[in-house]
Formats: sequence, C-alpha cells, structure tokens
Amino acid sequence: MDQDVAAKEQPRYIKLNARDNVAIVVNDFGLPAGSRFACGLTLRAFVPQGHKTALVDIARDQPIIRYGEVIGYALSPILAGEWVDEVRIRMPEAPALDKLEISTAVPAPLPPLEGFTFEGYRNSDGSVGTKNILGISSSVQCVKGTMEYAVKRIRAELLPKYPNVDDVVPLTHAYGCGVAINAPDAVVPIRTLQNIAQNPNFGGEILVISLGCEKLAPERLVPEGISDAIVRMQDEAFDGFGAIVDAIMTQAEARLKILNTRTRETCPAADLVIGLQCGGSDAFSGVTANPAVGFAADLLVRAGATVMFSEVTEVRDAIQLLTRRAINEDVGRALVREMAWYDSYLARGGADRSANTTPGNKKGGLANIVEKSLGSIVKSGSSAITGVLSPGQKATQKGMLFAATPASDFICGTLQLASGMTLQVFTTGRGTPYGLAAAPVIKVATRTELARRWKDLIDFDAGGIATGEKTIEETGWDLFRLILDVASGRTKPWSDRWGIHNDLTLFNPAPVT
Ligand code: CA
Repeated sequence: MDQDVAAKEQPRYIKLNARDNVAIVVNDFGLPAGSRFACGLTLRAFVPQGHKTALVDIARDQPIIRYGEVIGYALSPILAGEWVDEVRIRMPEAPALDKLEISTAVPAPLPPLEGFTFEGYRNSDGSVGTKNILGISSSVQCVKGTMEYAVKRIRAELLPKYPNVDDVVPLTHAYGCGVAINAPDAVVPIRTLQNIAQNPNFGGEILVISLGCEKLAPERLVPEGISDAIVRMQDEAFDGFGAIVDAIMTQAEARLKILNTRTRETCPAADLVIGLQCGGSDAFSGVTANPAVGFAADLLVRAGATVMFSEVTEVRDAIQLLTRRAINEDVGRALVREMAWYDSYLARGGADRSANTTPGNKKGGLANIVEKSLGSIVKSGSSAITGVLSPGQKATQKGMLFAATPASDFICGTLQLASGMTLQVFTTGRGTPYGLAAAPVIKVATRTELARRWKDLIDFDAGGIATGEKTIEETGWDLFRLILDVASGRTKPWSDRWGIHNDLTLFNPAPVT
C-alpha cells in the first residue's frame, strides 16, 4: 500500500457508549486483517466499513453491546479484533409491552428558540405550505390512466398560465373498489385519502376524480362545506372521453386561478410540519445522520414546530427507551397501543419484526432489527414525546410526535403526508433516489463517500461526524438552516430538480375482495 495513503488512512473505529464491547470501522472500504488501531487493538480479519469488530473477547452467550444496549448474544466465542457479523449474533426478544416504564424519564422542556422563520404559503385554516401545488384526488384506481392523461395536458396547456403554481400532482392509488370497505382496518386507507387531500401544500383546493360505481364514495374525500369538487366519469352528461377530460381541465383551471394568487409570506418556524424517516440504513445511520437529524429535530421542537418520527418496526425494539419519554400516561399508552397493533398485524401475516432488516442493511453492517432500531430512534432527538398518531391521522399538536407507520419508504411518506407533513428529512446510508411530488424531501447521507458519489442525488452530508471533521451540533444546525431554506423554496432538493418522485402508496391492512 502507498505509504502516504496508509498514513492518511489511519485505522479508526467508533465506539458510542462506554459500555460497548463492539465498535464500527470508519475507514472507507473497510480494513484488512492486521490493521492496528491507535488503542493497540489489531484486526484478526477483514472488517468492511460500518461493520463491527469486537473490542474485547466475548464468550459464548454473552451480550453484544452497542449504544450501551444489548443488540444480541454471541452464538460462539468471539475474539477481540474479529469481525462481528450478523451470523455470529443471536437476536434478543423484543421488549414485553406489558412491562414498560411510562413517563418515568420525561425530559424537561427545552429552552425556546426564537427568531427563526421561513417563507411559506399560509392557508385559511392556519396551516402553512412549503409548496403551491394543485393536488387532484381520486376515489378509485379505475380513473388512474384518465387522471394521468388529464394531468399531462394540464401541465402542458394550463400550468404555464399560472406561474405561481409549482405543479399539478395526481394523487393516484390502488384503493377504492374491490376492497372490504366496511372492515375495521379500512379506516386507515380511507382516512389517509381524506387527509392527504387536505395537505397544506395543496392550499385547500380539493378536486376528486371518480368513476361512479366504486365502493369509496367520492363525497367522503371532500370536506364539509365544499361543493362542486367531484368529476364522475360515468356521469351521463359526458359524451365521450374528450368531454370528461374537458370537465377535469375546466375544474382544474378554476383551482389553478385561485392557487396562483397565493404568495409566500414570512412565517415562524413553528408553522413547519416536518416528517423524519430513513431508508437504506447502514451502521453509520445511528452515528452520523440520525444524531444530526435528532439535533435538528430538537431545534425545530424548541422553535415550536411539529416534528414526526415513524416506522413502527424500527422503534419496536427500542420502545422501552421511548415510553419513558412520553409526556404523560395517555401518550405512553398510545405508544404501546400502536406497537401492540403492529405486533398483531405482523402475526396475522405470519411474519415478525425480523422481516424488517434488508440484505442492504446487513451489508451495511446492521446485524438485526435491534441494532437498527437503536440507531433509528436517535432521529427523535431528546425532547419529550408529546403525541401519537395512528396511521394517516392528522397532526394537531406541536412538538415531537410518533406517527405510527410501516417502515416502507413509500408507505411512510404517504402516511406522513396525510398527517400534514410539508417537508420530509430522509436519512440514507446505502443510498436511494427517493422523492415525493407533494412535499420536498431532503436526503441526508450517513457517509461522505456516498454524498460524493451521489453528489446530484444527496442533499446533505452528515459523514463529517464520523471522520471527526464536524460535530453533531454543527451538522444539526446546518441541517436546520437547510430545512428553513428548502421550506422557503430558496433551495431545491435534488429529487425536485430532477423531477424524480415515488408513487403514493396506501397502507391497507384490511382485506381486499
Ligand atoms: Ca423507511
């Protein structure tokens, strides 16, 4: 090896907690056997970047500790300097839901943070959008092709006349018919569609495209007091497809005229509704990106904003750390209720929480869902948890909320939009081009190597925390400022610059027919 490179690439690991008996290798592309750390530890085998090495000998059945918590037990004796990959670790049981401490360690309120603002679109109901979009809803999958055809024409023929409107977005989905509409769990997809139409980024302008014979009556997607908001394809007044498209265009233009009068105004950061999630996590997620997001989340909470973290299967194994932070008994019980609901949902499908970790997670050094969860909940920062939302429920309070969603990037994004999210912060270690049409998404890389390689997909690099170039606090402040810039339309995230967006994906835990 070139000596200069070797000198620059001094073997480094990160140990997060004094109790930890494993640490993760920091160096790009990993370290070969024989690499010697400053503390004297020598690797006995190649360890890939982000993967764990044992700091001390660990006997069979002894706990493997990271974040100061048990992430599993040694299946066979592990020697100091060996690679601790997932096949050497037995996963512990998930914490029992009936033995959790509730509200026993409620953090004191953080000091208020004043004077931070963004330029947003204020709506008549008091909510504030970060974008000015015409969102067109649909009550059934049957109309998807028609909507997309109409939206293509609206973009080409109408949108240029209304320059203050950012986009027209068809809110298409696979629900509405062929489903058990009265099943108890049907409340989830129906509530999601109702609430997503009212996302602050759509300015309260509702338009629903319906077929006419579907189970989900389109009236259910229109809030009370709004009339003339539905175009029914089967309406006998329409003479052919052309007439139907004309009707959609006419209704769309009426709404574009109103939306075009919206202008950005200075709003306090308290008016933000920020969603947090991760996708394609690696072992650095819990070391760099998620702690930086957690710091920024604390700043947002201090500024009075609403912040949501989600992904039930990625908090389930660390739930004992969250129920203690619940601001009161009700919030703590609601956390437990959402965990229990998801446990039974998974059991019904013959799966358990181990279904969460992906091959990419494991390749990135995450042994199991326990290790992934401990790194994931760091996003929630250090404030009290002030509320819990069931999937697709609208957020009505400030502070750090747990919005229960699956961990699937697309379903989580869709449910957070229904909860009123106007901007999402998305952390990734493996890399994903994820984006949403309805709200800007800031993608945060856990590693500088990824941020450099994907310089035109990743919006923010948190990797400097691992290399020691930047602190969590500095990185968190930088991210907080970027959130204000993106919310103001001053900075466009890469997914919006390229126009690459994922489909809305409804969560339907109810049967289909
Ligand atoms: Ca996710």
